[in-house]
Amino acid sequence: MTAVAQQTNGLIDKFGRRVDYIRLSVTDRCDFRCVYCMTEEMQFVPRKQVLTLEELYTVARAFTELGVSRIRLTGGEPMVRSNVMHLVNRLGNLPGLNELLLTTNGSQLDKYSAPLKAAGVKRINISLDSLDAEKFRRISRVGKLERVLAGIDAAIATGFDRLRINSVIMRGYNEGEVLPLVEFALDRGLDIAFIEEMPLGEASDHDREDTTCSNDWVREQIESRYTLLDSAVKTAGPSRYVQVVGSKSRIGFISPVTHNFCADCNRVRVTVEGRLLLCLGNEHSMDLRAILRDDSKDFDDLKTAIVAAMDLKPERHYFYDKEHAQPVRLMNMTGG
Ligand code: SAM
Ligand code: SF4
Repeated sequence: MTAVAQQTNGLIDKFGRRVDYIRLSVTDRCDFRCVYCMTEEMQFVPRKQVLTLEELYTVARAFTELGVSRIRLTGGEPMVRSNVMHLVNRLGNLPGLNELLLTTNGSQLDKYSAPLKAAGVKRINISLDSLDAEKFRRISRVGKLERVLAGIDAAIATGFDRLRINSVIMRGYNEGEVLPLVEFALDRGLDIAFIEEMPLGEASDHDREDTTCSNDWVREQIESRYTLLDSAVKTAGPSRYVQVVGSKSRIGFISPVTHNFCADCNRVRVTVEGRLLLCLGNEHSMDLRAILRDDSKDFDDLKTAIVAAMDLKPERHYFYDKEHAQPVRLMNMTGG
């Protein structure tokens, strides 16, 4: 029996974790330059090395045939990839795919919210680190707050199943924004997740060990004003949600630095170069582009490689552990 045929039970790694979720990066480029994600002068991947939309679709199809039911499009900023809606529309009709999701900086949602919904996108995560235009500009280096706020308004008006704000809180940049961001989300019936800054590549404007705020600290700030109930909702994946008493909104805490959640990991990433990355914090990977562009290889070979790659998935990451090498790859190259 071939490895592909053996995989009727889906993708399972050697620690027994089932992988049913992929993050598919459609570009490493972006209209922002967030300080935690990119350096100021970025070298982007040459276009020839970037997977075509057709190749991205083929990768997605291979994963869904192997039991993956959720795909999140990410990047870089997915909405700056030219013709990205062509891919989104096709993925919306991909058999076996239950959920097509998107993470975006929101800068183009005023234009794309309605087409995204029509294509079948049900939930969107929108990054927003500050409601203060100056602070927002300092973090994103070039982003305009009003564009993102217009994008959020458009997404709310379009009516997705759930919208979530993603915020990275950094000491010295936006630690005073926790309560305003929570209030913003609650007022609009949105969820909000706080993500601890991860040491992915070297940040060029700061030392991450000085800026990283633990989510325990963020939670304390929130509890100074709101009553939080640990949520009965257990989502697959790293977010730990709490319910705000008196509100429909949920607050998520994604705490890879202070609370390791690798034992529950259910996901892998495909970078824009077609590198199947088995872990955010490690370099274990499989080159899918080489298979896609090798005329002697076919679709089954691609699926076989994906199955084989599951054995490479490491048990956990070791962020900030001096005994272990830290990732040199920045988040925009990773597919956040
Ligand atoms: N451009 C889109 C956006 O900003 O939402 C999608 C890609 S971005 C890389 C995905 C998420 O990763 C964003 O919510 C961003 O805040 C987060 N992110 C980027 N670099 C990070 C880092 N070093 N640590 C933690 N989160 C990071
Ligand atoms: Fe662009 Fe998103 Fe990275 Fe910010 S976090 S630079 S918006 S890819």
